[in-house]
Amino acid sequence: MVSIKRILLPQPIEKEAISLLEAANFEVVLAPDKRAETVAPLLKGVQAVILRTGIMFNRELMNHADDLWVISRTGAGVDNVDVPAATEMGILVTCVLGTNTRSVVEHAIALIFALAKHLPIMDREVRQNNFDIRFKNLPRDLKGKTLGVIGLGRIGSELARICHHAFGMNILGHDPYLTSEAMALFQGWVEFCDMESLFRKADVVSIHIPLLPSTKNLIGAREFGWMKSDAFLINTSRGGVLDEISLIQYLREKRIAGAGLDVFAQEPLEKDNPLKKLDNVILTPHTAALTRECVIRLATESAKAVIDIHHGKRPEGIVNPEVLTRPRWQGIPLS
Ligand code: NAD
Repeated sequence: MVSIKRILLPQPIEKEAISLLEAANFEVVLAPDKRAETVAPLLKGVQAVILRTGIMFNRELMNHADDLWVISRTGAGVDNVDVPAATEMGILVTCVLGTNTRSVVEHAIALIFALAKHLPIMDREVRQNNFDIRFKNLPRDLKGKTLGVIGLGRIGSELARICHHAFGMNILGHDPYLTSEAMALFQGWVEFCDMESLFRKADVVSIHIPLLPSTKNLIGAREFGWMKSDAFLINTSRGGVLDEISLIQYLREKRIAGAGLDVFAQEPLEKDNPLKKLDNVILTPHTAALTRECVIRLATESAKAVIDIHHGKRPEGIVNPEVLTRPRWQGIPLS
């Protein structure tokens, strides 16, 4: 078994998770700040790290760890961990799967509704005593409209399900990696199509794919050019999957109606990012999964993954299972 004694938290996590770790008799070390130069020396003698986003856990940091066995992410994305380096060093990377699905779906729905019902503009105009805005700037119904979902994994499929069954939207889907069994679950209510048809037909396009070398800037000027001029784009996945500069151009020229964005090419959003000047976008600070309930679920699930490994139990969200076949893990079965 991996004997975990000391856990490093580069950033604070919820007290419910810390209680779990302390009840398992681990020593929990909280870094005073998340800068690499602060975190690096604290890695000595640490067997596990629990990692939020906002810090890049790269090879250089891993080189400071002399006994690290587990990096446990408090979310689903692992783009802030150098997974190949961890694998090379025999460090198991885990993530929390599915726990934030509902929160992100609700956030995407909030963005869709806020755009369709013109909430930011209506609110601003009422405060400026322009009640007549109600006759000039007509919001839109969603019933009968078409939602195009790129990526029908956990989040995309749940969004599609709710938008179809609760709001009466038609659903177009694009996900070339779904198995035929997975696709069968959508039979009769999701029409699968290529990217071009989806972008051309959808009234709302919502993106739910991971950021990978193959998906970086996947959606750009060509795809925005296919969109209807009164369609909205929603991105709650990762900023890097779309070409933000092209998007800004299309929004500025009103060649698409609006966008709801929770994620950006660079986070935090740069001070002078032109998105901030556009009134047809709604911006949220990568907050989709940061509901009060979800942050507790994420932190406790990621703490449980470390506790599981300590007890020889295989956690659900192992990102690099090939590590378990490396000599370092020989004789340490996780079942
Ligand atoms: P998932 O792995 O369950 O689903 C991703 C889906 O995308 C899979 O079905 C996959 O086949 C599909 N896909 C991959 N490449 C594709 C491509 N080129 N074209 C079309 N489909 C493709 O992941 P999930 O849990 O649904 O998360 C989706 C995204 O949401 C991830 O990027 C994740 O990082 C992000 N996310 C964001 C937040 C937030 O706070 N905003 C929180 C959680 C997750």
